[in-house]
Parts: sequence; structure tokens; C-alpha cells
Amino acid sequence: MKHQIDYLALIAVIDRRLDELHEEIGELPEQLRRARQVLEHRQALVEETRGIIAEIRSFRSQAHVTIQELRDREQRLSEQQFRVRNNREFDALTREIQTVRAERERVEQELRNSALKLENLEAILQRQEEELEQAQQEVAELEHALELLSSNQSEDVMRLQEWRQRVVERIRPELLAEYERIRTFHRDAVVPVRRESCSGCYSRITPQRLVEIRMHRDRVFRCENCGRILYPGEQLPELEAEALT
Ligand SMILES: [Zn+2]
Repeated sequence: MKHQIDYLALIAVIDRRLDELHEEIGELPEQLRRARQVLEHRQALVEETRGIIAEIRSFRSQAHVTIQELRDREQRLSEQQFRVRNNREFDALTREIQTVRAERERVEQELRNSALKLENLEAILQRQEEELEQAQQEVAELEHALELLSSNQSEDVMRLQEWRQRVVERIRPELLAEYERIRTFHRDAVVPVRRESCSGCYSRITPQRLVEIRMHRDRVFRCENCGRILYPGEQLPELEAEALT
């Protein structure tokens, strides 16, 4: 016949396993959160670079048109110089031609500069796109790992919780409440007595009390030092379905 202490020990074993499962998932959600942040940041960088490149391309196509227009104008002004009536008109046209030419040279210079800039930016974009792809892969892998672990675990967790429920039904409510309260301080609320000591805090148990603990399995003893529930055995029971009956 099982006593309250035996059921408490079973609950402790089930809770330990549930804690372990929880820890296995551990860092994964946090890793995924960070990987998603990196992904977002890299996405923004790629978009920014693409935007600048588009601006430069649009400037370049506009500049080609502008240069052609300035050339045509220079051409027309040169032709007008053959039809001038005096030196004053000729000089005025010469100055206008110089202005138009200077403007054309400025735009041409800017166009050359933009070609170099574009080349650099395209190299940067390529690198940024590669880094973005890496980040996408990282997120996908972490999502997959988390999903896999969660679905494998959810079966275990459900089974353990079912067992736990069956055990809980056999424990007196005030004892269960006490167990839960101890667990807020010590994850291992039920510990075996080993080498005449509490295996939670290693404090000695007096021989007289040891005898009592072993004799009266129908009573629940707690460590006088740490308050954990003492299980009168070297090990907590194995977790098997039949252990629940
Ligand atoms: Zn103790």
C-alpha cells in the first residue's frame, strides 16, 4: 500500500521531468527573437541601399538627357555666331556658350562620379543581400528547431500532466498545498534521505529521527534545516506508469 509520502515523491519526479523538458526548450525562443531582430535590421539596410541606387540611376538617366540638351544648345549658339551683326553680339554669344559648356562639364563630371558611386553601392548591396539571406536561413532553422522540439515535447508534457493529475487526486489537499509552497523555494521539494542526511541541504538527521522517518511511512517529515519533504529511501521512485497505481 502506498502512503502519502510515496505519492508526493511521484509528484516530485514528474515535476522534475516537466522542469527538464522546459529547460530543453531553454534558450531557443530568445535566440529566435534575436535572430528575427537581426533579420529586420538587415532587411532595412538592403531596402535603404536599393533606394539610394534607384535615386542614382534616375539621376543618371536624367543627366544623359540634360547633357544632350546642353549640347544642342551649344550647337545652336555656335551657329548663331555666324549670323551676328557686330562684335558685341559675338562676345555675348561666346559668354553664353562658355556658360552652357561649363554647365555641361559639371553634369558630365557628376555623371562620372555617380558611376563610381553606383559601382560601390552595388558591391555593398550584394554583400548586404548575402547577409540578409543568411539571417533568413538562421530564422528559418531556429523556427524549425523550436517547432520540432515543441511538438515532440507536447506529447511528453501531456502524458506527464495526465499522470500528475492521477497522483494529485491521491494526495491530501493540505499536503499538496504544502508541497507547492516548498517548491516556490526549492525546485526539489521532496528529497531522499542519503547518508543519514537531507540530500537537499546535506544537513545531518539525528538517528532517532531517522528511525521515526523509516518506521512511520504514513507520516510526512520535513528537513528541520531547509524544510524540504524527506523521502525515506536512497532514491526517489522511478517514473513508470505502474508506479501510479
Ligand atoms: Zn534539508
